[in-house]
Amino acid sequence: MRSHCRLCSYWSEAAGLCSPAAMGHTPGLPSLLFLLLCCGSPLLVPSQETTPQVTTNQDTTNQATTASQTTTSQATTSTATNSSQTPGKSNLVTDEAEAGKFVEDYDRASQVVWNQYTEASWNYNTNISTETSKLLMQKNIQMANHTLKYGIRARQFDVTHFQNATLKRMLRKIQDIESAVLSTQELEEYNQILLDMETTYSVASVCYANGTCLQLEPDLTHLMATSRNYDELLWAWRGWRDKAGRAILPFFPKYVNLTNKAAQLNGHTNAGDSWRSVYEMPSLEQDLEQLFLELQPLYLNLHAYVRRALHRRYGPQVVNLEGPIPAHLLGNMWAQTWSNIFDLVMPYPSAPKLDATENMISQGWTPKRMFEEANNFFTSLGLLPVPPEFWTKSMLEKPTDGREVVCHASAWDFYNGKDFRIKQCTTVDMEDLVVAHHEMGHVQYFMQYKDLPVTFREGANPGFHEAVGDVMALSVSTPKHLHSINLLSSQGNSHEQSINFLMKMALDKIAFIPFSYLVDQWRWRVFGGSITKENYNQEWWSLRLKYQGLCPPVPRSQGDFDPGAKFHIPANVPYIRYFVGFLIQFQFHEALCRAAGHQGPLHECDIYQSKEAGKLLADALKLGYSKPWPEAMRLVTGQPNMSAAAMMNYFKPLLDWLVAENKRHGETLGWPQYNWSPYSVRTEDKFPGSSRVNFLGLDLEEQQARVGQWVLLFLGVTLLVATLGLTQRLYSIRRHSFHQTHRGPQFGSEVELRHS
Ligand SMILES: [Zn+2]
Repeated sequence: MRSHCRLCSYWSEAAGLCSPAAMGHTPGLPSLLFLLLCCGSPLLVPSQETTPQVTTNQDTTNQATTASQTTTSQATTSTATNSSQTPGKSNLVTDEAEAGKFVEDYDRASQVVWNQYTEASWNYNTNISTETSKLLMQKNIQMANHTLKYGIRARQFDVTHFQNATLKRMLRKIQDIESAVLSTQELEEYNQILLDMETTYSVASVCYANGTCLQLEPDLTHLMATSRNYDELLWAWRGWRDKAGRAILPFFPKYVNLTNKAAQLNGHTNAGDSWRSVYEMPSLEQDLEQLFLELQPLYLNLHAYVRRALHRRYGPQVVNLEGPIPAHLLGNMWAQTWSNIFDLVMPYPSAPKLDATENMISQGWTPKRMFEEANNFFTSLGLLPVPPEFWTKSMLEKPTDGREVVCHASAWDFYNGKDFRIKQCTTVDMEDLVVAHHEMGHVQYFMQYKDLPVTFREGANPGFHEAVGDVMALSVSTPKHLHSINLLSSQGNSHEQSINFLMKMALDKIAFIPFSYLVDQWRWRVFGGSITKENYNQEWWSLRLKYQGLCPPVPRSQGDFDPGAKFHIPANVPYIRYFVGFLIQFQFHEALCRAAGHQGPLHECDIYQSKEAGKLLADALKLGYSKPWPEAMRLVTGQPNMSAAAMMNYFKPLLDWLVAENKRHGETLGWPQYNWSPYSVRTEDKFPGSSRVNFLGLDLEEQQARVGQWVLLFLGVTLLVATLGLTQRLYSIRRHSFHQTHRGPQFGSEVELRHS
């Protein structure tokens, strides 16, 4: 299975915040208004263990890696459910030696089955066709049979009093058989839904009126990154959601239903509970909220500063200095990372450049060269080089032979200890150089734990897997390092360059924090039942507003499904791992820099060639999932907790600068005018390919809007005549009773304000 990378489309991940407590959810308003209101703090069902036979956790299949249970992770077959297959407590086996033999047998069999399954999944992902999807579905069946067979046998052991903690941990993991627990018919339906959702997403495209169509990668991504035309951006933003999001919606309620059912049959409260259980932290939700709040000052200051720059670029009609930011202006399809608009927000435009893209192109870099550079960085630390198969079997560029592929970048472990691959539609630029390091981080993890039993070939927690490559990229991105590999002419030592550099980093790292936090806030609540299909989209926007301070640039309706326009939703990949991964990469960076003997500000540290740093990291990676993650954390950082302190430390110089800058402009932090929207004040200009217009916040055909204008004109004239009549009447009454003070109910703007 594969490990998803944030980049690519996570690369395509970003955000702005209002104080969660300040916002109240207002049910019952018409949906147009509704979209713009913040909801209250999400109420999440606390994690519970319901059935005794199943304990902690995770998905069978997902054991694979950090990754996704795509489409595929699961299979068909299964006839039995938990209850019918689990023997009574008194019949359970307590012999540890027998259990030891069982897990060995499981390990041998799993390597074969998982390898075949992964191969089929790879073939499908790099060549979407009827044939490859059929073969994949067959392997799904084989996989489910395997999972079910061993899951049932694992449940015959009572591990309560086992002395060997590792054995206990392994068995508990094998006992959770994930979707293989479903009936044959349900599992087939489930797998089909997963396949359909991912395929729908991967082949979606947006077409101009002349018939030319743009795919997400690279066309729409490029357009969102580089266009500075409000309407062109809007066309791409809306088009992608019309095509990808809306098409996913019909599948989603059934997907939720079956995912929950499988989780419940495995002893979890719901699928959100199952996903959270991987972290083995009873207070996960509260802890993450706390970490999020610690980082909020950074985000709020960045949001206000960026909003000012967009206001300058696009004008007061579409950017309100006290409101949320329209979601299509931040250089990314999901506004998840914002570094593509660095040119609009650069603190010191005259300082030397920090982006290596131009030099990469002029020096003739290729995608392969980018991965070689990443491989070189890992080996400079004494970490493992990728095996020869990596170079022959990976897909490092988008095929040009007409094949449809799943472009979203990912790293793959084939479970035979030597076959590891990356699939990425790489573009030669600085952004994808960082993505290449990210993906190579997954591969490094695979290689470090390749000798563990397959059950443990996973990250200490999924966030660890996401963090490894990013830690390397934190060093590689420094001007000092880019200069050393001849990609930048300047070492970037001046204060101006430092602030520019930190701003560029913040546009990716800080902007991403609220987005990565909210995606699973939404999904956990969907799985928990507090968000239903009637309000999928409006709750999505409530969270986007609450955490990111963003609003949709055009009205949204119940038929829209904007969560579905983000890869990880149709692909069934949990997202909180990215939030965790972003936090802990700074903890790792700080610890590795200490080991490397770095002196000075954290953002200037480059651990290149430090064997000490490499050793620290390798020791933690080698543990895989064999121990609870705090042990791996302790190996790297010397303490067991997640913390926001390292990230705050890294960005401290920028925060100081932003605070001063925002103060100078009298900036309002947050978005007190949270129900403001660009379309309420602006009649949208048309962009080629669209015959729809925005009329009073409604998305209408041009003709309908024209009729609306005449109706409004008529009403306006009528109202004017009536007002003149009434004024005259009032005047004549007043002349007779001027001494009376009117204290009746008030109308007009005050009332509106009070309720807004
Ligand atoms: Zn990843």
